[in-house]
Amino acid sequence: MIKGIYAHPKPFWEQDLRLDDYGVNATFIHSTEIDEATLQRAQREGCKVFAEFATLNGKYGNYVYDHPEAHPMDDQGNQVPPATWFLGACPTDSGFRSFRMQALKELLAKYPLDGVWMDYIHWHAQFEDPYPQLVKTCFNDSCLNAFQIWANCEIEGKSTPDKSKWIFMNKAREWEDWRVSVILDWAREFREIVKISNPQALVGCYHCAWKDEDLGGLRRRCLGLDIEALKEYVDVFSPMVYHGRSGKTPDYVRDYVEYFTSRYHINKEDSASPQLWPIVQAQDEPRIPPEEFEKVLHYGLSGGSTGVMMFTIGSVAADKGKLEAMKRVYHQYP
Ligand SMILES: [Zn+2]
Repeated sequence: MIKGIYAHPKPFWEQDLRLDDYGVNATFIHSTEIDEATLQRAQREGCKVFAEFATLNGKYGNYVYDHPEAHPMDDQGNQVPPATWFLGACPTDSGFRSFRMQALKELLAKYPLDGVWMDYIHWHAQFEDPYPQLVKTCFNDSCLNAFQIWANCEIEGKSTPDKSKWIFMNKAREWEDWRVSVILDWAREFREIVKISNPQALVGCYHCAWKDEDLGGLRRRCLGLDIEALKEYVDVFSPMVYHGRSGKTPDYVRDYVEYFTSRYHINKEDSASPQLWPIVQAQDEPRIPPEEFEKVLHYGLSGGSTGVMMFTIGSVAADKGKLEAMKRVYHQYP
């Protein structure tokens, strides 16, 4: 069982605590916050070290601000405004793609990691809100040209609004399938880079915890996330089941873990099956009382799950009740 923490353990370590005393055996740390001292201390305290890698977040490295051609464009031809936590990048912009893949190669060359988790692997949107922000993207030249080649068609119209309208009226299904194929191709190359560098390292994926049928299938149609297809490139799925932030009850975590296990045939006994390690909410946004946090940690380890982690260890370290809850739960599992 993976008993994980997400984010840099600094707030936990500042209290002179040891990860193994709390039953923690894995850390998931943002790639730019990993250094030699962190890696060694986590390993000394019995933990595997995984990197979280901001894949299609255009904010990281300030990329889209410095390269406006990579800023996602909506169906009216405007640059999309940033969502609450996220600003996407145009996934077909070749400069952006090589910039990100290069950063991944450098990370893997620098540290002997146990794996890398793709984060923000979706088209521009914000789904971790009670009222999700969903946007139609991307209609810049790079995407329109790539779509024309993929769908073997010629988009009609002079302006961006005309072209997007033509796509929605004539090639809506193909447009959605193409958008999925773009995300899959990012995952394919990501996996290739990780496995060339270290065949033992795991490729994980943080993703939107919506069912196929939720909101009329928008996880696939808007985010471009096709979980079934991603199974080819992902060793471990980490759905972000943030019940409080999504305006749901803790039961949502248990229900989603059950759903994911049966829908995607997650089998703990089968080494060929991808694994399921959900990430649950500890952060007080809104307030998550310790007993509620304890419940979602347990639910995160139910069904076909073989691991769990929380968003974030900082929120746990700041609350004695949550620290004790984590310790109780993690010591219950082997
Ligand atoms: Zn684009």
